[in-house]
Amino acid sequence: MFRRFIVAIDGPAGSGKSTSAKLVAQKLGFLYIDTGAMYRAITFLAMEKNILNSQNEVSKLAETCVMKLRFVEGKTQIHVDDKDLTKEIRSPEVNAKVSEISKIQGVRQALVQKQREMAAENAGVVMEGRDIGTVVFPNADVKIYLIASLDERSKRRAKEFAEQGKNITVEAVKENLVQRDIIDSTREFAPLTKASDAIEVDTSNITIEEQVEIIVQLINEKLKNYN
Ligand code: C5P
Repeated sequence: MFRRFIVAIDGPAGSGKSTSAKLVAQKLGFLYIDTGAMYRAITFLAMEKNILNSQNEVSKLAETCVMKLRFVEGKTQIHVDDKDLTKEIRSPEVNAKVSEISKIQGVRQALVQKQREMAAENAGVVMEGRDIGTVVFPNADVKIYLIASLDERSKRRAKEFAEQGKNITVEAVKENLVQRDIIDSTREFAPLTKASDAIEVDTSNITIEEQVEIIVQLINEKLKNYN
């Protein structure tokens, strides 16, 4: 019988989720879904529409919008109601507000539903976020929980900003990561936490190739017994 194979990759910002999830998906020909991009897009639109303070309006927006994710040339492109928000969602302003918006139950319910629908389109899926192994796909075939030291995570994110031509200090990035970690892991609905059956991988001192290799090996082990 046909069944989907789901790989859930969770962990805090800068732990290496996006980098390794993309490469793992490419290697295996799986669909890659970056759920953080979806929370970021709703945050950007809520800022633009000036509805940040209305949980009802933001939830309604998350429910009614049409969201499309595409993975092109190594990057996640996101369109909401046919508007390309790929660049807009990676700003420091969105970083500052996204965890507050992600706390809202109505937003989470709407986006989790969209995530499940997107995954239904493919036989193999690598989905990364904060609650994939705990809430979105509690029966995922492979669950990975990535961690890395705060210093390392801050350096990685500051480097990403620099590559986009944005000059943001490691200290400023660190401050935002600490804030987001606190809000994401203490919120009432679907907090960031390691699923009891997830495999933890510390990426602080390993290369991207090594991260990918570890994850692909875990997947291949599972695929051997997959029917
Ligand atoms: O992964 P990324 O750093 O882009 O995620 C941005 C924010 O989106 C996180 O800090 C978190 O608040 C939220 N998020 C979430 N659940 C997910 C993915 C992201 O709450 N599955």
